[in-house]
Amino acid sequence: MEPSFYRQILDALSDGIYFVDKERRITFWNKGAERLTGYSADEVLGRSCADNLLRGVDDNGRELCTSGCPLEAVIRDGRMREADVYLHHKFGYRIPIHVKATPLRGAGDEILGAVQIFNKRTQNISILKEIETLRKEVLTDPLTQVGNRRFGEIQLQECERTLKEFGAIFGVLIADIDHFKRINDTFGHGVGDKVLRMVAQGLSNGVRVFDSVCRWGGEEFLIIARGLKVEGLFSLAERLRMLVESSWIEHLDQKISVTISLGGSISRKGEPVSNLLNRADTQLYRSKQEGRNRVSIDEGFNPPPPTI
Ligand code: GH3
Ligand code: MG
Ligand code: MG
Repeated sequence: MEPSFYRQILDALSDGIYFVDKERRITFWNKGAERLTGYSADEVLGRSCADNLLRGVDDNGRELCTSGCPLEAVIRDGRMREADVYLHHKFGYRIPIHVKATPLRGAGDEILGAVQIFNKRTQNISILKEIETLRKEVLTDPLTQVGNRRFGEIQLQECERTLKEFGAIFGVLIADIDHFKRINDTFGHGVGDKVLRMVAQGLSNGVRVFDSVCRWGGEEFLIIARGLKVEGLFSLAERLRMLVESSWIEHLDQKISVTISLGGSISRKGEPVSNLLNRADTQLYRSKQEGRNRVSIDEGFNPPPPTI
């Protein structure tokens, strides 16, 4: 995942977080650290925390930076440290803080520096829980409550990696609501939104546990199906098509129902994801051309159109 994604999460946390290198120079300072200490990233980046910047003292007034800095100890022996201290705020006063210092390790397990996570002692927020909640918020489409495009992109990257490393094939389906504009035009945008939610939830409930569904665009959804061959992908798509067709919402005593068209393709080793998606998109176009409410899958496997 790109660094800006993690930065966004780290900045949204209420905890203060900063990284130091082996010389205890500050290399990262999040928004939480700014809020808690009053110092902006510009004021502290590149400075050494051994400059006694935050001038932490313990209950007895003992200065931590000069006598027993937890970060120095963590960098030395790689063991996590926790302590209750009072930090110096830029405006002069002391703030009661709980600090947790953990080692920052490189790919070869060598210690590159340390991370300090700190929060006001009155708050006892579990940082992992908060990260999980924020991760969910960042990756969920607010209207439909399924994954958003970013979530889909992350899943695709992951599938591409496992295909490359282990040869694990996967399939994609692009599902697009048929004549959706008519729903908006006839019943209004609010009803359109409800229909979108219905379709998204129907797809999400209709896939297998290890498949993913995300809202790829306005009224278009991407389904990533792991470990399926062409026939399996077709059955999955056909089931999703049927589930949407047999769903409805009620609006002013009227049942409103939509159908979806689907296009799908199975990954090929060495093929870029963009190409895989293009092949699925071509099949979606074909489903639309051939009358909508149908499934087309690439790789030459296309069952005869329904006889009814
Ligand atoms: P087709 O069968 O060819 O796909 O026809 P269509 O009408 O579904 O396709 P088109 O792309 O012309 O229309 C898509 C519509 O989806 C237009 C846009 O207003 C609507 N739409 C996109 N996002 C939203 C949304 O968040 N809420 C609502 N209510 N409508 C949306
Ligand atoms: Mg459409
Ligand atoms: Mg569309």
